[in-house]
Amino acid sequence: MLALLPFFACTPAPEPPDTADSGFAGCPADALTLDDERGRHVVDHVWRWDPSQLLAHDGVVFVDVPADVDSLHLTVDAGAHDATVAVHVDGALHSPAALRSRPAVSLQWPFAPGTAPPPGCWAIRPAADTASADGEAGRTVIHWRRGGAVLEHLPLVVGRSSQVTLADDAVEGLIERASTALRTEAGLRPELLAIVDLPDDDGVLLVERELQAWLRRPADLDLPDAQWVHLVPRFDNLAILGAATGVPGAVAPGTSGSGVVMAVDPFTEDGSTDLEGLAEVLGHELGHHLGLFHPTEADASAHDPLPDTPECEDADRSGRLDPEECPQMAGNLMFWLADGVPEFELTPDQIAVLRASTALQSGTAAARGSR
Ligand SMILES: [Zn+2]
Repeated sequence: MLALLPFFACTPAPEPPDTADSGFAGCPADALTLDDERGRHVVDHVWRWDPSQLLAHDGVVFVDVPADVDSLHLTVDAGAHDATVAVHVDGALHSPAALRSRPAVSLQWPFAPGTAPPPGCWAIRPAADTASADGEAGRTVIHWRRGGAVLEHLPLVVGRSSQVTLADDAVEGLIERASTALRTEAGLRPELLAIVDLPDDDGVLLVERELQAWLRRPADLDLPDAQWVHLVPRFDNLAILGAATGVPGAVAPGTSGSGVVMAVDPFTEDGSTDLEGLAEVLGHELGHHLGLFHPTEADASAHDPLPDTPECEDADRSGRLDPEECPQMAGNLMFWLADGVPEFELTPDQIAVLRASTALQSGTAAARGSR
């Protein structure tokens, strides 16, 4: 029994003070606009410590959100520090705290049925929650989709640790297996754009401490719309097979929350790797990355916000939700535990969240062969 954990999804970032503008009078003339069917705004910051707020911030990012925006994804990256953000829509606080992640904060709408991004003037106040961020660089990235376009392509880049012996054809087989399952279950089409070899001296990824730095690793690839899948030999905690940085992860590349990481060694025996098992981990971590929680968390203390995923209880009070305690969801892709039998089931609400992701593209065939 091995865990498929999002490390930071259950750890709420500190709540920033309520900065609602009581005299709200619409967006300023220089507010960002979301003109295209889909796109991305990148806003760079230099954090300034404000002792009265106990935050390092750089003012407010205004975005004029029209009524036909289907999805909006917000990432605040405060470098090595924990980021936080307050979002006001037409002057009213609108930050779903349940969806916070760290160290980069990523939020997405919709995250459940009926949670499309509300139209209006969004006042986004990104911040870092420590004085030591003073003078350091931060970044806010806003992705959006509008106009009801149906998108299904999910471009991926695999970053392969030099300590991972999986050959190119095996990596391609892994992506193909995950792609087939996600296409069948959810209509998604993950596509491998490139395999990038990344130097790795240790061969072990220390969870939490090194994960952020690993995900931030630079790559001179002009593939800003691809999501990163990192293959590492193993985590220091051998019970962990894979990790996403939050629910959702950062869709933007190059932040401490960008992409997912998977351990290959636990699936390798006598030089042969179980690509089916690895593909399930990939599907699961991509599920977190695109906005899905565990339907019921490992200790049964929390449930996802989706109405159609049954909520299970730790009936024997062991402190751990076992598959026998949740038979109706044990075969779900987002069940917290991998039991060795690859299962990719998804509910309609889970599929709807995945299909709304701003990570999806209209097609990537032109980018093929850019390895
Ligand atoms: Zn998980």
